[in-house]
Amino acid sequence: MKCMLCESLSFSHICPNCQETFLTPSIYKRKILNNIEVISFYKYKDIKDLLHTKHTDIGFYIYSILAKNSFSKFAQEFDYPNLITSIAVDDTIDSGYSHTAILNKHLKSKKIKPVFNKLRAKNSVSYSGKSREFRLLNPREFEVSNYKMNNTILVDDIITTGSTLTQAIGSLQKSNKKVLFCLTLADVSIN
Ligand SMILES: [Zn+2]
Repeated sequence: MKCMLCESLSFSHICPNCQETFLTPSIYKRKILNNIEVISFYKYKDIKDLLHTKHTDIGFYIYSILAKNSFSKFAQEFDYPNLITSIAVDDTIDSGYSHTAILNKHLKSKKIKPVFNKLRAKNSVSYSGKSREFRLLNPREFEVSNYKMNNTILVDDIITTGSTLTQAIGSLQKSNKKVLFCLTLADVSIN
């Protein structure tokens, strides 16, 4: 196949060279309501075209490459006194795979145990391109299925206003879960 970015022959959708040049992660931090930290690895504008593959045939592969370069590296270096869990926003499968479940899966490490299908939005409204006001007026109504551990990392692919994560945190807290911090691939607010 050909590398999506430089078009040279490659065994992967993005060649090792381009992965190193364009997908070496940074650490961007911001705080959302309830003072919880959100760590992101890329500027949205830098990987926008890659994120847009999420509803296409190659989305699974591109998200796996992004996750391997960022979430996996983070998880390998992450240390904590005890084992904690990670869950993803909207990891229910709609078109063959869930892009946030791919990210979450890549956190599996000595200290992190990902769990799946634990956070379900009862309202499937899309926030893409919508205002903060719209988001507030149309809550996603997250439902938490029980899981063992309390200390949790919350995972999503993109942070825009932070409404989705804030709502998800609220639901987790109601279920007596403690969200230590959130991880996303890309932060739209960083220029
Ligand atoms: Zn390339």
